[in-house]
Amino acid sequence: MPKNPFACSECHLILADGIDQCSRCPSAPVSSDWSGYVVVLDPKRSEIATKLNIPLPGNYALKVSIR
Ligand SMILES: [Zn+2]
Repeated sequence: MPKNPFACSECHLILADGIDQCSRCPSAPVSSDWSGYVVVLDPKRSEIATKLNIPLPGNYALKVSIR
C-alpha cells in the first residue's frame, strides 16, 4: 500500500514523496493524516483557495489533522 504524502498544516500544501517539511513554512508541522485533494491553478479566482488562504498554485489538502 503506498504511503500518503505529507501535507503542511499551515498552508495545506501536499508535499512531494519523501519530503517531510514544507518549503514555504519550515516550522509548521506536517501530517500524512489529511483529506480532500484540491488542485489550485489560479488562487485569485478560486473560492476554495481564498477560503484556505492559498496564495500560490499547487496541490492542497482540504483538511490536515495533526496528531
Ligand atoms: Zn506550508
